Amino acid sequence: MNTTTLHEIQSLKAEIEELKRQLEDKEIVFNNILESTLAGYWDWYIQDNYEYLSPTFKSMFGYTDAELPNSPETWQKIIHPDDLPGVFEIYEKHVKSKGKHPYDNVVRYFHKNGSIVWVYCRGNVIEWDENGDPIRMVGCHVDITHENEIQAKLEKREIELKAKNKELEQFAYVASHDLQEPINTIASCTELLGDELRDDLDEDLSMAMKHVLNATSRMKQLIKALLEFSRLGYERKLETADCKKIVDDIVLDLGASIKETQATVNIGKLPTLSIYPTEFRQLVQNLIFNGIKFHKPGTLPVLNIESKETNEFWEFSVTDNGIGIKDNHQERVFGIFQRLHSRHEYDGTGIGLAHCRKIVEIHGGEIWVESTTNKGSTFYFTIPKKTYA
Ligand code: ADP
Repeated sequence: MNTTTLHEIQSLKAEIEELKRQLEDKEIVFNNILESTLAGYWDWYIQDNYEYLSPTFKSMFGYTDAELPNSPETWQKIIHPDDLPGVFEIYEKHVKSKGKHPYDNVVRYFHKNGSIVWVYCRGNVIEWDENGDPIRMVGCHVDITHENEIQAKLEKREIELKAKNKELEQFAYVASHDLQEPINTIASCTELLGDELRDDLDEDLSMAMKHVLNATSRMKQLIKALLEFSRLGYERKLETADCKKIVDDIVLDLGASIKETQATVNIGKLPTLSIYPTEFRQLVQNLIFNGIKFHKPGTLPVLNIESKETNEFWEFSVTDNGIGIKDNHQERVFGIFQRLHSRHEYDGTGIGLAHCRKIVEIHGGEIWVESTTNKGSTFYFTIPKKTYA
């Protein structure tokens, strides 16, 4: 052997050593990644019926590495029997599609202590023989029990919350419905008494009678508003509707107030989308009506209704040049029976914006106001592009 060949062999050996070192290094990194992600790793030699199952795979179900043999039968014994057919089904699809259909699955395993472990499993055939049959498949297991438990808890909370909400609405309905009758009786009896005693009452008593009549009529209004609030959206129907047409109709309906206040209502481009039309109409009508009602004395009301599209929803805005709302009241006004003015300044029950909020919420959107006192307000609300019934 000459010195050149010897030299070549030595450098080849060094190269092999270096490759070996790099491979070992990669293995250490790989094992560390597996350990730190807590994922289990499997490597299935399909035709030899051998399957390497990483120690993290086994510890996920409470076993040591030595306790479980490396074979496909191992996991088939501890997987939930109801989930086993699904595993093969997805595997078949993956193989038939030559790996195009992903092997992606969520299954239940039994932990050594008998509890259920939810596992997200992902795999891929990485070697095929000349007949197109799979030789080797590798994949990962991730324990998602905790996430599933949180999800289940959240779902349970949501169901409880919905039930409580229904109960509250039912209570508000029954209370307001049942209160209507006695209040109507009080109102008519007081009116009758007033008529009968008109000539016998002195000034103080007549004033007191007037107060009682005013208060009962106000109470009737509030109870009616509460009843409407509790029924709001009760018989809603989801439909694809042209929002521009709805707003045009509202403006026609509000013709008398618009004429009386000499208001200008500008309507921009509005979309056609899936909404609860009756409720949507009520929402926009309340906002336009408020824009006219709360105009600045001495200034003709001008309203602009516009919309803006984003990826997930449409954002609508109703802008006025009215009296505005102070910063610290901008959230409060959406509360039920919340008013910022006395009845003598502006008429109303304080339920209009609470209605608006409820309507936006049943569409799955949000409502808010941006406002400057003495300059005007813009009420914004969003309607998701997909509203689910
Ligand atoms: P109501 O109009 O019956 O009082 P709302 O719930 O519609 O009840 O409004 C609540 C309060 O919010 C109003 O009393 C008013 O003080 C304020 N508000 C609503 N809309 C406007 C607006 N466009 N400009 C100024 N203030 C407003």
